[in-house]
Amino acid sequence: MKSSPKSNKRIFFTFLLLMTLLFSIAQVSAQDDGGDDYGDEYGDDYGDDYGDDYGDDYGDDYGDDYGDDYGEYGDYGDYGGFEDFDDFGDFVEGGNAGGESVEATFPINGTDLEGSPTEQQQQLWDAFTRIIPADRLQQISKLEVFNDPETSGYVYQDENDPTKFVLGLNVAELDNPNELTRTIIHEYAHILTLNPEQVNGTLASGGSGTCSTLQLDEGCAGADSYINQFNSQFWANSTGTTANQFVTEYAATNIAEDMSESFTAFVLQARPTGNTVADQKINFFYNFPELVQLRNQIRANMANTSGG
Ligand SMILES: [Zn+2]
Repeated sequence: MKSSPKSNKRIFFTFLLLMTLLFSIAQVSAQDDGGDDYGDEYGDDYGDDYGDDYGDDYGDDYGDDYGDDYGEYGDYGDYGGFEDFDDFGDFVEGGNAGGESVEATFPINGTDLEGSPTEQQQQLWDAFTRIIPADRLQQISKLEVFNDPETSGYVYQDENDPTKFVLGLNVAELDNPNELTRTIIHEYAHILTLNPEQVNGTLASGGSGTCSTLQLDEGCAGADSYINQFNSQFWANSTGTTANQFVTEYAATNIAEDMSESFTAFVLQARPTGNTVADQKINFFYNFPELVQLRNQIRANMANTSGG
């Protein structure tokens, strides 16, 4: 099935579950009510997907990639220069576009937040801008900071300027830097693959235009867009949804989530040596030199962050 997002405010509630499961809720898994369901839905899968993978991907890879590579990337002093966010104008409150408990909204001005963020809110944006290269921040019009245990992050097209995205980050994730990093990369991957250069927003769902490629809520995917190529390779003739077709369970949600999750794995994990469909989805991104460069940049930024 094609991506069939719910509204043109596709909220990538992304992760929400996924991350919750992944990191925070691990401890909760033994709890009363949720116990059984949790066990069924998430317990097992957690074991399978995250237990093992965690072991493999994050355990080993962390060792391999972050240990070793961190060495490799350790010298990128250029990425250490972060903006000084002392000078803010007016605070803008509200938003709640995604139904999350949005505690504050900040327009983005260049690479800076406008308004008067608290220390934590600022830390959230700093975390984002440390990891995502500065020349890509202009695709984001606003940051929404929320606190919701069930959602890690989301992006959606800004209704005032559909060429840009509103980014939502969960302030509670400051307590778990690895989780936050993963959310940041996942959310950025949506922006990377759904921005107007990739997806023609004039042919949004419900419009009268005809889309001969892939119709998404954001519009019609360009013929050469990442997501259209990804669709042709992995979704157009897909016959099943067995576990090894997806890098995570959440990736099976729809093609947009599959892309974001696969991209996140591409960035955070070592290059797969196997040839499962999930491996192929990660390797897909190695076909694009600019994405390999972006991977290297993000990893260098991460290394620099952890070293600093
Ligand atoms: Zn997502």
